[in-house]
Amino acid sequence: MISRTLLVLLCSTLHSILASLPPDGAYPVPPIIGGLRLSSGGKIIDITHRYVEEMPAYGAEEGMGQVVRLVASLKNGSNANWSEFKMSVHSGTHLDSPAHFYDEYFDAGFDVDTLDLEVLNGPALLVDVPRDSNITAKVMKSLQIPKGTRRVLFRTLNTDRHLMFKEFDSSFVGFMADGAQWLVDNTDIKLVGVDYLSAAAFVNGRSAHLAFLKSREIILVEALKLDNVEAGLYNVHCLPLRLVGAEGSPARCILIK
Ligand SMILES: [Zn+2]
Repeated sequence: MISRTLLVLLCSTLHSILASLPPDGAYPVPPIIGGLRLSSGGKIIDITHRYVEEMPAYGAEEGMGQVVRLVASLKNGSNANWSEFKMSVHSGTHLDSPAHFYDEYFDAGFDVDTLDLEVLNGPALLVDVPRDSNITAKVMKSLQIPKGTRRVLFRTLNTDRHLMFKEFDSSFVGFMADGAQWLVDNTDIKLVGVDYLSAAAFVNGRSAHLAFLKSREIILVEALKLDNVEAGLYNVHCLPLRLVGAEGSPARCILIK
């Protein structure tokens, strides 16, 4: 026989469970973790380029060439298919760590494995840059990116020209050194995304990178696939491989609307 105390306890537990359910019997709203509402059916937009032989490789006349090789195969009598891949860590959609342009950071181990996942995941603004110039200080100022914005993906003429679908073209646009320095000095941006293989314009390749990477707070994500994505606010998720000792890494980047 259930004691009176136990019965009261059971009733009050049942009551509190029922009270926590929504009145219309709908499922509870999933929790928001890191700004992302889980299991809400948010639209995923893949902003990563596919690794194909024709993809441009920085500074190379020919494309990436063969990336993936089948070294053992079922057809040839192996008991499984077994592939290897080989490419530069700055291939396709990828991240740069501070070690990319500072040898002292390279020696100190600031590789891609040290990049802050908090910076690589979270609310991000996709903006359209004026199509008639590189990203200078003047252009940066004109974009009027709100203070507090920590992640910005810059879409440029490179996307309109479909440059990631052609052989390497040094006429791509990117940050000039003064544009990079302006961003460092006047904004809270820590994740800088661009739509070609280098965040820096070809003519300012080294100086713009130096401006971005000096503080070791800014992460560059390059060669994003931003075709047919509306400008606006998203959640970005960009995950590099844990390549210890590497100053760059391919990354899978997605936006969630
Ligand atoms: Zn790079």
